[in-house]
Amino acid sequence: MSRDQSSFDADLVILGGGCAGLSLASRLAHQSPKVRVVVLEARTCYQEDRTWCGWRTEPHFFDDCVVSQWNQWRVVTPTCSLRLGSAGYPYEMLNSKLIYEKACNLIRGSRSVNLMTGAIVKDVIDSERQVTVCLGDGTILTAPWAVDTRPHQRSLRPPWLWQNFVGYVVQLEDERQGMWGSLPTLMDFQPAGDSVAQFMYILPMSANSYLCEWTRFAQIPGERDLIETELRTWLDRETNGGWAMERQEFGSLPMAPPLENFQHRIVDGGTRGGSLRASTGYAFHAIQRWADTCAASIAKTGIPVPPRRNCLLECMDELFLRVLQHESTSAALMFSRLFGDCDPDRLVRFLAGIPRYDDLWAVVSSLPWPPFLLAAPSLAVGGRP
Ligand SMILES: Cc1cc2nc3c(=O)[nH]c(=O)nc-3n(C[C@H](O)[C@H](O)[C@H](O)COP(=O)(O)OP(=O)(O)OC[C@H]3O[C@@H](n4cnc5c(N)ncnc54)[C@H](O)[C@@H]3O)c2cc1C
Repeated sequence: MSRDQSSFDADLVILGGGCAGLSLASRLAHQSPKVRVVVLEARTCYQEDRTWCGWRTEPHFFDDCVVSQWNQWRVVTPTCSLRLGSAGYPYEMLNSKLIYEKACNLIRGSRSVNLMTGAIVKDVIDSERQVTVCLGDGTILTAPWAVDTRPHQRSLRPPWLWQNFVGYVVQLEDERQGMWGSLPTLMDFQPAGDSVAQFMYILPMSANSYLCEWTRFAQIPGERDLIETELRTWLDRETNGGWAMERQEFGSLPMAPPLENFQHRIVDGGTRGGSLRASTGYAFHAIQRWADTCAASIAKTGIPVPPRRNCLLECMDELFLRVLQHESTSAALMFSRLFGDCDPDRLVRFLAGIPRYDDLWAVVSSLPWPPFLLAAPSLAVGGRP
């Protein structure tokens, strides 16, 4: 016998109000005024804490939060500097402050969605008929469904890696204005040291400010102090000390497929549910696609859905990461082949996680085959995260 909906505290509880939680909740606030939603978010206020970028392959809910877009980008290796581009798929930059504001305003204006900040989820009980959520302050909430977007605490085994990075938004002295050009540099490879790969990611923010991010593919998460030292040394060397930091951001992203993302009545979303692409760390646009699908499913059936998984892409990512970690592989060479030899539109669709079948072939044929053939048998052995 099913329980009367009104005896629950909400029709849906969203655990975590970051990118995925707010993306879903703001759509529901906008489109489904009858669905009662509670979003539980640990932080007490939203600040500009990250810069979301990625290729725009279709219109999305946060189009009005795009602050820059480029039809060309650069990849730099020790042996070449590539300038690449796509007329159809610009690389766009979104301001997190604008996104948080838009989502919070939509939620504030709705009668059915309630965002509780400072709400720390301590325990979640998933039973056949309902989800019970216990908060740090002793509050208990029940709902027939929950979407969980809190990051997993997890350890990763090879071939899976952590993508650790620190980014500084820097202001340059006047005479150094525009020194890194007006295009984004997606990868400027640095000596790998004891990591699998290290590179700078450089985004023009305004005439004399850039986001400069030192990124490391490594076996362990974090490494913040180490990365900051590398970043500061690089900035000092490049600008002769002529920089000042305005803001910083930090991340440690699991380059690995998600853990099980569906239980009785809890569906995982966002990075936790598999929206983060293992081989790249991009997640924003995939989260938008998932939020569209999930909101539509809730409007139609009342039931949320997890991000759709693509086994073929997961296998390709696993193989790619295995090859990157082989001692004879140069990550700079692999990425220069990928960016240099593959048609940019095909590569963008592949990296964005929405390839057509012939895009897969184009990507595969741009890469050197011998290391992949050598690594392929180990796929059968498996490397679950
Ligand atoms: C600095 C940074 C820059 C990034 N840049 C890009 C980019 O350019 N392009 C791209 O595609 N991806 C990028 N990513 C990756 C990805 O898009 C983001 O991490 C994105 O925010 C993931 O969304 P999410 O909802 O899964 O996680 P989050 O946005 O991190 O949301 C999780 C939420 O859960 C909350 N939470 C955690 N524990 C609890 C608890 N116990 N109770 C209640 N709430 C809790 C957190 O406070 C947080 O708000 C970046 C990540 C970082 C960290």
